[in-house]
This record gives sequence, C-alpha cells and structure tokens, in this order.
Amino acid sequence: MKPRVLIVEDEPGIADTLQYALRTEGFEPAWCATGEEALVRIGSEAPALVILDVGLPDASGFEVFKRIRATSDVPVVFLTARSDEIDRVVGLELGADDYVAKPFSPRELVARVRSILRRSAKAAATAAPRSEKPAASSVSVAPPLAVDEGRMQIRYYGRPLELSRYEFHLLKALAARPGHVFSRDALLERVWGNDTESMDRTVDAHVKTLRAKMKAIAPNDEPIRTHRGSGYALAEDLPAVPTPAARPD
Ligand code: CA
Repeated sequence: MKPRVLIVEDEPGIADTLQYALRTEGFEPAWCATGEEALVRIGSEAPALVILDVGLPDASGFEVFKRIRATSDVPVVFLTARSDEIDRVVGLELGADDYVAKPFSPRELVARVRSILRRSAKAAATAAPRSEKPAASSVSVAPPLAVDEGRMQIRYYGRPLELSRYEFHLLKALAARPGHVFSRDALLERVWGNDTESMDRTVDAHVKTLRAKMKAIAPNDEPIRTHRGSGYALAEDLPAVPTPAARPD
C-alpha cells in the first residue's frame, strides 16, 4: 500500500510540483489549501505524513499544527518561506518532525519524507513490546533527572519536562551517562538514527530548546554542558535542589 501524504499548501504551483514528485517516488499524495480542510482530512483519511505550509490563508501553519497535535501524532514537515519562520521551526518549540525552506528541491523534500516515515516505522516497532511492560519498571534516575521510559517522560527536580519525541531521546541519552561527552555524531546516531539528512545543527537546536525548558525549572543551573569541538554532556555535579538566585545586596 502506498503511504498517503497530505500536502497543505495554498499555492497550486507548489502543490502540483510536490504531488508530482511524491507520486513519482511511490507515494499517494493528497492536497488541500486551508488549515480547516487539513484538520478534517487528517481525521477522515489518516495520512502517513503531513506537509504543512506555514503561510495559509485561514490560519498560520503553527496554529494548525497545534490543533493537529491535539488529536494526532502524524509526522509533520513544515514548509517555510521566511527566516523568522525557520527560526521558530528550527527551535522546534513546536516539536515538528522536520522543515524545508522555500524554495526547496522536490527531490530533497521527498527524501526527507521517506526518512521520517522510516524513522516512525522503526519507533512504532520498538514501542510495541515496551508498552507491555509495567511503566514503573522502566524509571531510571540520574539525579536530579528521572527518566520514565514507559511514559516517555523525564522529571527534573521532580517536575515533568514537556518534551518533543527527539528532546526526550536526546536527554535520555545524555542522562544514561552523566559526565560522558557525546559527540554530535554519536547523538545523531542514537537519537535520530542513521539518517544522512540530519545535521549537527539539528542536535544544537534541540539542545537549545532542552536547556530553555530545564532553565524554566531551575534558572541558575546548567545541566547540559557544551564541550567545545567535542560535543555535549550532562553535568555530574548538579545540586540536589535548584540553585537559588543570587540576590543583589
Ligand atoms: Ca502559503
């Protein structure tokens, strides 16, 4: 069965090019031009992946993405046209699976689609047996972090971090060996698999969002250390309770 890919794009020229490229590569493309229609069709057609333009006539792609995530885990690739949009997606504050900047090469986009679908198939295959285990048996602790595999949740100083899938796996990898310096390549391989489309910048962007989320809980601690030229490590010397702010006298 051909994987169905829903294109949400208001420019017919771009949608046509994409549909052609996807069809040629063995996918079954579908197209709609508004966020509203996209939400309806994701519900009724259950596409394997969604390509979502950020600039839509009825709503921003970011807003549509949030509404998709309220009901569905379908992988989403953003199409972005402006650099400020790219910043927002690369920051992955939204937890999208990938993005492609306009103008893009249809071949490159189709390659990304293929690699994301391969990844999500792999994740589904490994998630199945894990869900049969009781969640309590899969909690590992690297204070002040506690990684709960079953729930795909990580607590930091007792408070749950709201993490995207990649942020979760990235922090889990770092927490498995506090103090160990992981190279960007090693993290790419562990967290993203051997996808050649992933880049060092992907790791950096996710570390940045992870730090921001951890800072919201403990503003004065630096849990993820940068080792220039080598990579990242989880700090071994984090305090048992968050460091209080130094008060000016
Ligand atoms: Ca547009």
